[in-house]
Amino acid sequence: MSRQSDAYRALPAIEKLLNCEELSGFTSVAELAIVKLEARNQVEQLRSQIALNDPETIAWVIESNVQKEICQRIIVSLADRSPGTLKAVFNLTGTVIHTNLGRARLPVEAVAAMEVAALGDVNIEYDLESGRRGDRDAHLEKLLADLTGAEAATVVNNNAAAVMLVLNSLAKGQNVVISRGELVEIGGAFRIPDVMESASCCLREVGTTNRTHLADYEKAIDEKAAMIMRVHASNYQIQGFTADVADAALSKLAVASGIPFVSDLGSGTLIELTQYGLPREPTVAGALAAGADLVTFSGDKLLGGPQSGIVAGRKDLIEKLKSNPLKRALRIDKITMAALVAVLELYRQPDLLKSRLPLLRDLTRPANEIETVCQRLLPLLSDGLAGRATVDVVPCKSQIGSGSLPMDLLDSFALCVDPIAERGQRDAVLLNLARQFRMLPRPVVGRISDGRYLLDMRCLRDEHEFVDQLSALNVH
Ligand SMILES: *Cc1c(COP(=O)(O)O)cnc(C)c1O
Repeated sequence: MSRQSDAYRALPAIEKLLNCEELSGFTSVAELAIVKLEARNQVEQLRSQIALNDPETIAWVIESNVQKEICQRIIVSLADRSPGTLKAVFNLTGTVIHTNLGRARLPVEAVAAMEVAALGDVNIEYDLESGRRGDRDAHLEKLLADLTGAEAATVVNNNAAAVMLVLNSLAKGQNVVISRGELVEIGGAFRIPDVMESASCCLREVGTTNRTHLADYEKAIDEKAAMIMRVHASNYQIQGFTADVADAALSKLAVASGIPFVSDLGSGTLIELTQYGLPREPTVAGALAAGADLVTFSGDKLLGGPQSGIVAGRKDLIEKLKSNPLKRALRIDKITMAALVAVLELYRQPDLLKSRLPLLRDLTRPANEIETVCQRLLPLLSDGLAGRATVDVVPCKSQIGSGSLPMDLLDSFALCVDPIAERGQRDAVLLNLARQFRMLPRPVVGRISDGRYLLDMRCLRDEHEFVDQLSALNVH
């Protein structure tokens, strides 16, 4: 036997490496994937050096604890990856769907599907049966049809894009009839009147801010009217002396006028949220059943999936959307597609949904469980801030967020940090404290309320990681 073949034999199998104690800290699908790649990489490198009969490598492989050494190399090479400016953070703001913190956390099923799509080729727009170009939406249409009762569906980059595509495809250069009570700003420069203009549509506003009647819509429908639109009041509420027209009546008017009725649901849930003790929010199926020809909604709000915008409804209208060149500019990529399909698949198993979909798990997390987390962390945080602030456990309210159900708050608990500071210094000390939390290795984002710093523990999952970095707070 040559030294060379001894060296080959001494190389550990990839599977064996992956099961090493040293690498047991890597647990997420993505980390494991990187570890696997790096393991292959390291072994390949050694193999090629052995092939070159490199005496140093051969000696090292035979004589050292090569398995352990390779694990160390893997750990070092993973740590060397530049983290960039996009970081994992702890969202302890109490807003579950936080647009600035990336909205929905994805289920592991989606992450696994994204990994497959990202690492290889997928038939995203390729028909395996005929061997010809396929339809990108085909992967989702059947699922969405099953979940919403829609005839057809298409998916674009986000809901703003979905609304834009619908307007531009069905009402370009024509009038869109909409109530003055629905000319809203969603945030982040999405204002319905501006979106209309960008889509080359003319806004035909009817009624008043607080009251709009069927007759207002009827009067506005002329030969220039191409669509009746409804925008769901997602981030505001009009209360008091109000009136609006039911979907069914708008649908009837649209049918009689030969134009489509489109409903922008914004959040749009696929399931009845009240069954989980959550506030009622219109469902996509409900809006379609009430007569909407098309419904638009976000993939990363209450749906709990990746950023995307979904349009579901009448097949002939969806076809028009698909043939609009804008669709090409707004389409989703293979990774989003993989994640969205995986999330929608979870919806097909309703009894598992609550335990599998992180968003639903966070929204339904019982207040007493959150309080227990707070109590567990209280002494640790108090220690970390000793001499600078006192810490208490207090009841608070979480928000669903992203414009969904703004009036409905969820009972929760927070760690309340009260700085020890002279009057007059308090605000500055508080801001500095919040900043220190944001400067931790994994930044912690809380909220300031009534002169105190609140950490709402509803969305805390990686408790150990949170605890491990508390000692870093001691550095002034
Ligand atoms: C959130 C929202 C939008 C925009 O959706 P994005 O997915 O953020 O692009 C549009 N309309 C309504 C009613 C919304 O609530």
